[in-house]
Amino acid sequence: MSAEHHPVPAGDAWVDRDVAVVWHGFTQMAAYPTNSPVTVERAEGRELIDVDGNRYFDAISSLWVTTLGHRVPELDAAIVDQLGKVAHATLLGNGSRAVIEFAEALAAVVPVDDAHTIFASDGAVAVEQALKIAFQCWVNRGRPERNRFLALGDAYHGDTVGALSVGDGGFGTTVFDPLRFAVERTPGYASADWAAKAVAAVAAHADTLAALVIEPLVQGASGILVAEPEDLALVGRACREHGVLLICDEVATGFGRTGRLFASEWAGPDFRPDIVCLGKGITGGYLPLSATVVTAPVFESFSGEDLGTATFYHGHSYGGNALACAVALRHLQLLDEWRVLEHVVEVADHMGDRLDTVIVGRPGVAAVRRRGLMVGVELAPPVGAVRWGRRVCAAAVRRGVLLRPLGDVVVLMPPLTSTADELDRVIDVLAACIDEVAAEDVP
Ligand SMILES: *Cc1c(COP(=O)(O)O)cnc(C)c1O
Repeated sequence: MSAEHHPVPAGDAWVDRDVAVVWHGFTQMAAYPTNSPVTVERAEGRELIDVDGNRYFDAISSLWVTTLGHRVPELDAAIVDQLGKVAHATLLGNGSRAVIEFAEALAAVVPVDDAHTIFASDGAVAVEQALKIAFQCWVNRGRPERNRFLALGDAYHGDTVGALSVGDGGFGTTVFDPLRFAVERTPGYASADWAAKAVAAVAAHADTLAALVIEPLVQGASGILVAEPEDLALVGRACREHGVLLICDEVATGFGRTGRLFASEWAGPDFRPDIVCLGKGITGGYLPLSATVVTAPVFESFSGEDLGTATFYHGHSYGGNALACAVALRHLQLLDEWRVLEHVVEVADHMGDRLDTVIVGRPGVAAVRRRGLMVGVELAPPVGAVRWGRRVCAAAVRRGVLLRPLGDVVVLMPPLTSTADELDRVIDVLAACIDEVAAEDVP
């Protein structure tokens, strides 16, 4: 048969053009074309649509950023409205109305007392800023020996060198070990006694610690490892007691994923971080924006003479982008107006039940971990089986559900507005894909 009877899907031509000029993050480009990539052209609601018109339910929220869905008319309008005023004006030495308005709204809801916010564009930079702020805070206070960080095993805080340093090994970071600065490390959420160990580490190293850095409640990138809120509260109390700054990296957990606006809230009203890092869902998934939020005492430790040494000499060209802040403000309002958190709690309960029925105990499944709408399904590949996570997700993509694994953990991170029916479909597709891949590996 001639080629004209078998038209090449447009997707293939786009993949050729893609690999000719684009370098994808966290992706082996030599293998990229063979890993059934989807080339997205547009979206509707919670579905992405590729260049061939195929639809995929966005079950990973475009790598954990999309909250309400794609092309939300209210969010689109917020950007268009701001475009009619100004897209961007620098925050270095000057102000921007859209930024002030969002920072006010954020200060009212973030679990940080008397919040002051410095903006950037990526989660890793929000962490980087937090580390530099904590470090300089102690220099400014005349305690420069408090210059080390305590971080958790299995932690992930982003890919810049400072964020990599507080992050644990793995994730392909070994090559950068010579660049990573040394930190104190205490076990992560995979250890049942992580909190007792963290409390002990805070006490043991208090005199030299600037801060503890932690992903509250959920260690996302290491495969959705989960903690109990009471344990988190214990660790927060230890930091308070020993004067160690508490940095909560809420880049993944913030803006509703766990059923509260911020995961820190689960640990009770006394759990008050000194610094909170935000990103990912902050704009509903629309524009790159991240934020480092600090308490009044931290903020005031930088107060001093103009051009003096107490100043925080750090800032990014696009830090405090007006378009991003305008959509972030509207997003925060919609979370409230649409009672999104109530929906998350309800639909996440439903999801938990369905996972219990369909996935837990299924052959090929080792464990299911969940907090709110953050789910990790750890696969149990038979000895010698390879790339299970990848193959299960590729099978899901063929069925119109977009998934991306973390090793052999399949992550489900659906948009916050997902319906019970949509989640049922995602879980049923996942079950079918696990069965399919398991059957391929039967000797
Ligand atoms: C994704 C993530 C980051 C990094 O954010 P980027 O925007 O990808 O730089 C940092 N911390 C946590 C907990 C994350 O999940």
